This record gives sequence, C-alpha cells and structure tokens, in this order.
Amino acid sequence: MENCVFCKIIAGEIPSPRYFEDEEMIVIKDLEPKAKLHYLCIPKVHFARFSEMNEEQANIVKRCCQKIPNLAHKLGLAGGYRVIVNQGDDAGQTVQHLHIHLLGGEKLKDF
Ligand code: AMP
Ligand code: ZN
Repeated sequence: MENCVFCKIIAGEIPSPRYFEDEEMIVIKDLEPKAKLHYLCIPKVHFARFSEMNEEQANIVKRCCQKIPNLAHKLGLAGGYRVIVNQGDDAGQTVQHLHIHLLGGEKLKDF
C-alpha cells in the first residue's frame, strides 16, 4: 500500500534488520522501543485492523500468533513478554498496517 511504512519495510524500500522472516510475516525491532526488547511481528499482507480482516487474513494472523512462542524463545523473551495489538485512535495506533508488539527482556510495569 502506498505510504505505508511497514509495506515499504516489507518491500525492502526502507532498510530494517529482520529478526525473522517467512512467506507471511517479518519481525523487526521497534524504532522507539518501549521496553528493553521491543519487536514488531508484521504480517506481509496489508490491512489496518481486526475489523477489516477477511477470512484469509485471519488465518494469517492466527499462524503469526502460533509462531510467537518459538520466536520469543529465540529473541530473548523466554522470561515472558507482553503482546499488544493496538486498534485505532483511542489505542494510539499510529501505523495503519496490523502488527503485533512483543515487549520484554525485563520485568514490565503493570499497565
Ligand atoms: P502502533 O502505535 O501500535 O501503530 O505501533 C507502531 C510502531 O511502529 C511504533 O511503536 C513505532 O515506534 C514503530 N515504527 C514506526 N516506524 C518504524 C520503522 N521504520 N521501523 C521500526 N518501527 C517503526
Ligand atoms: Zn502496509
């Protein structure tokens, strides 16, 4: 999608080290980390929110979620991690391409 920063990263137009990649998803580090370790799991397909998701996209998100426990182990999050998927303005969603935040690498504060 035009002007989508994550689509540009996926296409290689904006360089960003990939900590994991397969046919459906990439994992990068967040530019402005909110925890010692802060990753973004980004499905390669562009859609903004769960409310826009079709059946095929839902299956992709499901498979992305299923990969997270194994990935978390390899990414230094074996001690536990927080999963956040911001949806819309009130949640502070700034990039309109669905993504899953993984936060950890330290004891996280309650929220
Ligand atoms: P959200 O607020 O849930 O939409 O999360 C978007 C996240 O993307 C924010 O935490 C940003 O710091 C992060 N972000 C924006 N641009 C980039 C980028 N080029 N590389 C890595 N992370 C980014
Ligand atoms: Zn996109």
